[in-house]
Amino acid sequence: MAITKVKGTYDSFDELQKKYQALEEKIRMVCHIFNYDEIKTPIMEYSELFHRTVGETSDLVKKETYDFLDRGDRSVTLRPEGTAGVVRSYIENKMYANNSISKLFYIGPMFRYERPQKGRYRQFHQFGVEAFGSSDPLMDAEVISLAVTIIKAFALKGIKVHLNSLGDEESRENYRRALVEHFSKYRETLCEDCKMRLEKNPLRILDCKVDKEKEAFKNVPNIYDYLSPSSKERFDKVISYLKAMNIDYIIDPMLVRGLDYYTHTIFEIEANIEGFGAQNIMCGGGRYDNLVSDLGGPQTPGMGFAFGLERLLAAVEASGRTLYKKRGIHLFIITLGDNAKAEGMRLLNDMRFGGLITEIDYKNGNLKQQFKASEKYDPQYIAILGEDELKNNTINLKIKATNEQHTIYLDDLYDYIVNDINNRMSNYSCGGSCSGSCDSCGCDGSCEEE
Ligand code: AMP
Repeated sequence: MAITKVKGTYDSFDELQKKYQALEEKIRMVCHIFNYDEIKTPIMEYSELFHRTVGETSDLVKKETYDFLDRGDRSVTLRPEGTAGVVRSYIENKMYANNSISKLFYIGPMFRYERPQKGRYRQFHQFGVEAFGSSDPLMDAEVISLAVTIIKAFALKGIKVHLNSLGDEESRENYRRALVEHFSKYRETLCEDCKMRLEKNPLRILDCKVDKEKEAFKNVPNIYDYLSPSSKERFDKVISYLKAMNIDYIIDPMLVRGLDYYTHTIFEIEANIEGFGAQNIMCGGGRYDNLVSDLGGPQTPGMGFAFGLERLLAAVEASGRTLYKKRGIHLFIITLGDNAKAEGMRLLNDMRFGGLITEIDYKNGNLKQQFKASEKYDPQYIAILGEDELKNNTINLKIKATNEQHTIYLDDLYDYIVNDINNRMSNYSCGGSCSGSCDSCGCDGSCEEE
């Protein structure tokens, strides 16, 4: 029996991979504009890192991590999220050294042993940012605006930004107490997980999908009544900055987020993706002012978020956007005879070196077969090199757009094609500069390659 992929994983190739590539390119561009630098951390970390950051009581650590002992009997975990590794790296590499701001982003695979379904995988991909070194509400607003800019960059529709504050330690402690008092009255009606949460982490009960509709959830205490004056003031500032940037949001007092490390501002971005049901949360994040010090670094505030790339892609497609235009190569070279083949290889190399996407037949076909082989690549130009042309140092060039055919000197081939492409592109309103991304200029997208 053939070996299959691991349950909950998928292969990305062909069109799908091109879409992810386009997705990542745009993400990198937005991060670049916001002045965030890319960081790559290992996919595996010592298990303790996630126990100490994500939290022992979280579902993530309790049920969903891929843990194993390596050959040296050390407990290692495939990262289920990105923040812990970035924080570990921030401390280990002393990025805090000159007390400056560090603005980082990452893109990469994450692993969670969850029940696979639409929008939920065991290996999925996240793009996330982490901003260290400022506890100013300005940074909260910037991080949220980066996430919203990603949404805008893909022109997504049906998006909602949910916002909440968990306040400082004192606010959370007061709120925790109020929740215990409230939910204790309904203890027997709660699911087994929530009974446990009541003892260990009552805030998490608000996250429960099972108990949500029950009586116990009707008059849950509102976190705002428990925020300390300074936490309230802080949250108001975040809101005023978001307003200044014209960012729409919904204040959602029931939002708590699944991980233990959050303080103050937390947020989620919900997308309306048909068929995704409960898997509509595309991005989640918040402030984590104690995480760096909890992991042994100096007291350093931090704020970040993570987008699921699979859900982002689904939202882009649900909004009817095309991420990339399928387009052909620049040139296909047909050669007839052994001598022409060697010269064809030289041309192939020269054209590629000059930046023209060029292909050749790899199957030793005759003229007809080579024309047939070219179809797969949809070339803008086909150059035919036979023994006669070779003798005269010329080549036959077919121009697909106009159906013209010209005999030109071999030495002129590259300049001829580049000039012809430039002339044609200047006819489009984008002048050949839209990178194939605008839908209105009429450009066939081939300007992207210039
Ligand atoms: P979290 O780290 O749980 O806050 O998740 C952040 C984002 O990652 C979510 O909003 C989803 O878009 C995505 N995500 C989380 N878990 C999965 C999964 N199992 N499969 C696909 N995407 C996921």
